[in-house]
Amino acid sequence: MFYSNVENFKSATGYEIDGIWYPRVTSIVSIKAKPALYKYYAGLPDFATGESIKNKSAEEGTILHNAIEAILKKEDSPVPEAVAPAVSAFLDFQKQNEIIPHQIEARIISKKHHYAGTLDCLAELNGQLGVLDIKTSYAIYRDYGIQTSAYVEALRENPSMPPLKRWILRLDQARHCIRGCGSKMREKGGNIKIRPAKGVAASRCSHVWGEQLGEVELRELPDIEKDVQAFLAAKTLWEWEYDYWLRQIPNPIKNDR
Ligand SMILES: [Zn+2]
Repeated sequence: MFYSNVENFKSATGYEIDGIWYPRVTSIVSIKAKPALYKYYAGLPDFATGESIKNKSAEEGTILHNAIEAILKKEDSPVPEAVAPAVSAFLDFQKQNEIIPHQIEARIISKKHHYAGTLDCLAELNGQLGVLDIKTSYAIYRDYGIQTSAYVEALRENPSMPPLKRWILRLDQARHCIRGCGSKMREKGGNIKIRPAKGVAASRCSHVWGEQLGEVELRELPDIEKDVQAFLAAKTLWEWEYDYWLRQIPNPIKNDR
């Protein structure tokens, strides 16, 4: 990433809270390389196509996040057509599981490690309190553990906070082949991705795609302490990378380690 001046760097990578600037969790986490992403970009016609797909799918993800947050806040707002199948899958999930949101889109601050972030939801899920992070990706990636551990690590600076679970709730929608070969087709950011089912039938099938169906996948993330260590290591590396800008900010990093 390139920044034109320190103000540009500060607003792009952090939050100013009560006059103090904190680097943002998602910015820190982005320092970790994602090898699968290079492979993905290499399979596209050009870099601009990749950027366009990335930006459009981020927008679609935001629309779905907003719709889910409105439901959790019990707001009565219309569901955008484009995300209706995923929202309906979430409503089914909500019927089968008890979700009591405590905080939605909440700003968290770690005074100890000096960072801030915004978590999707601090909630009781079936009687257990934890950080619930909503993702709209194809799969649940290990990297999500690093991001969510940062939220938990900040929340537990509050001495009255009970032990917290971490969950990823992946919401998605796909068309299934109505010829019954088991393949699925997803459209994200204007890009069509077909995930064929295993076996001969799928490879020989000339698919016919049915209606969009929503999908929900809930996963509890284990090994919080390992993930916190990984996050703090990422933060150290992030600080090294952006040393040029950080040196221009008064007291940007309070590193207690
Ligand atoms: Zn098929």
